[in-house]
Amino acid sequence: MERRIQAMTWKDFERFKDAAVIVPIGSTEQHGPHLPLSVDAIISTGLAEMIAEKINGIVAPTIHYGYKSAPLSGGGPIFPGTIDLNGITLMSLVKDVLEEFIRDGMKKILVVNGHYENEAFILEAIDLLSRQYPDVKFVEASWWDQISEEAMAKVFDKVEFPGWALEHAAIAETSLTLYFAPELVHMDRLVEDGVKEVLTYHVYPAPKEIVPETGLLATARTSSAEKGKLLAEDITKNYVKVALKEF
Ligand SMILES: [Zn+2]
Repeated sequence: MERRIQAMTWKDFERFKDAAVIVPIGSTEQHGPHLPLSVDAIISTGLAEMIAEKINGIVAPTIHYGYKSAPLSGGGPIFPGTIDLNGITLMSLVKDVLEEFIRDGMKKILVVNGHYENEAFILEAIDLLSRQYPDVKFVEASWWDQISEEAMAKVFDKVEFPGWALEHAAIAETSLTLYFAPELVHMDRLVEDGVKEVLTYHVYPAPKEIVPETGLLATARTSSAEKGKLLAEDITKNYVKVALKEF
């Protein structure tokens, strides 16, 4: 069954008025020498489509831009092709899109976030809408917070987990992209790299030298489509559990 809103007619869409609408949000951001700029959108979209199948939901057109990439969680703005939004723009964009679904009568909204820096602005949009529309239920979660301990142990079997900020273009994102869009992954261009020193504070302008030139903040060695499948199924299971509980 077609669950992507952009492929529906308005008549098709109307039939899903009581369903949950799932809104994937990504970014356009450098992801090292081997992954496309749209990794965060590819992963959030792929997961949203898997979740929609399980809860009879529909998937909104993906938001492909996100909040500013930070040096130690995405590499920052120094890389060509990283196209960031100001916080107020992202907040307004998310608020406007969600409000349109509410105006169409949707009462269950699930936001699947795929970009580390987005979350506070998404939550701000949701909070403002929630005050205005108390009968609408909103659920928001970043996909990396939905991975079970068992799946983490299988994915980080040979390489130590570096923390989610540094796990950028690394094993989880590379494996999930190998699963969802293998044609866009260039494993032959992969190099071994990572952040040498992690600052415990923010500094502006961001010092270039703290970010590796490749844009890889941690190793992507041991990534595979099999790990991607395992992650995608595990994450979907946990989102579905949350959706069934909350909606
Ligand atoms: Zn990413």
